[in-house]
Amino acid sequence: MLLAVSAPGGAAEPGSGKSADPDARGAITPATVTSTAWDPILLLGRKVAPGDRRRLFLRASESFAGASVEIPVLVTRGLTPGPTVCLTAGVHGDELNGIEIVRKVFETVRAKALSGTLIGVPVANLHGFRRSSRYLPDRRDLNRFFPGHPGGSSASRIASALFQDVVRRCDRLVDFHTGSFHRTNLPQVRADLRMPAILEMARGFEAGLIVHSEGQPGTLRRAAVDHGIPAITYEAGEPMRFQKEEIERGFEGVSHLLASLRMLGRTRRVAPGEVFFQSRWVRVNDGGIFLTDRRLGEAVEGGDLLGTVTDPISNERSQVVAPTAGRIIGMALSQVVIPGFAAFHLGLEGRAADDEQEASAEAPLHGSAGRLEPEEHPE
Ligand SMILES: [Zn+2]
Repeated sequence: MLLAVSAPGGAAEPGSGKSADPDARGAITPATVTSTAWDPILLLGRKVAPGDRRRLFLRASESFAGASVEIPVLVTRGLTPGPTVCLTAGVHGDELNGIEIVRKVFETVRAKALSGTLIGVPVANLHGFRRSSRYLPDRRDLNRFFPGHPGGSSASRIASALFQDVVRRCDRLVDFHTGSFHRTNLPQVRADLRMPAILEMARGFEAGLIVHSEGQPGTLRRAAVDHGIPAITYEAGEPMRFQKEEIERGFEGVSHLLASLRMLGRTRRVAPGEVFFQSRWVRVNDGGIFLTDRRLGEAVEGGDLLGTVTDPISNERSQVVAPTAGRIIGMALSQVVIPGFAAFHLGLEGRAADDEQEASAEAPLHGSAGRLEPEEHPE
């Protein structure tokens, strides 16, 4: 049981000395690491022995009257060696599906069946969760402050505590999010697919589509990757709701990922999801009432009508046209929009950008296209 074990893409047990420079971006390499001992670990000041399941607390910030805000951290230390996988949810306090996914994983996974260590932060933004808000009490978005600074703003301090005390212990990280209000997305993994270890991890998750995205600076995913920790986000459903199907799919994704890392036995295989190395938002050029008959998952050709925008006063109507062929992986629900509003998210076939697509993005279509931009990136 204490013999050398190799984990595909795994890294050394935290504390036993990671070989990669954690501060170097791009230092992610799929490593086969041998571990000869499987000892208790110290996490948040508490000892967690092989076979233990513990609920710990991260003291992230002081509220008024000296009342501290303690973020729950779940840990299951497997009986046998393996990588450390972290699951984070609720970085946006109104995104509930991920919270339930993480809870369910920790309820289900038994330490005796696990090789390696699972660390879960089901509600990273406890302030927001209590108020059903995406944001912290000062309206800051916690997912713009990672890796944070212990002497910074409230958001930066929470980010720093979480990052230093928990995230840096991880060999792999999955951060759970949902789509944003008034938009709907196909379930999707977002990941920096230029890095082989991350692509492998995204494929291992096996739930829904995989969409390339570098990740905006300040996001938990991007900060983890910048510190050499392969990380993906999974977007499951809509905010403010617990959606059974989305929760089940995310739970299955974690099970598949843990199996692909040889931390759990293999459950049934599912067909691998479609991978989009490129995606593009289609914006409206006119304000008004946006209506569409399009459905998520539909394939469209360049020039196809996607929807219309009608000025409620003048009755002038403009068309929203696909600038290029692709598959609708995210879209706005019918609503009132302003010029520049991102109405459709198209997944594009093929690996590399080509000039023709760039040119079409500038063409005077009634809809306009642009690269994936951070403000439409709800993670
Ligand atoms: Zn989010």
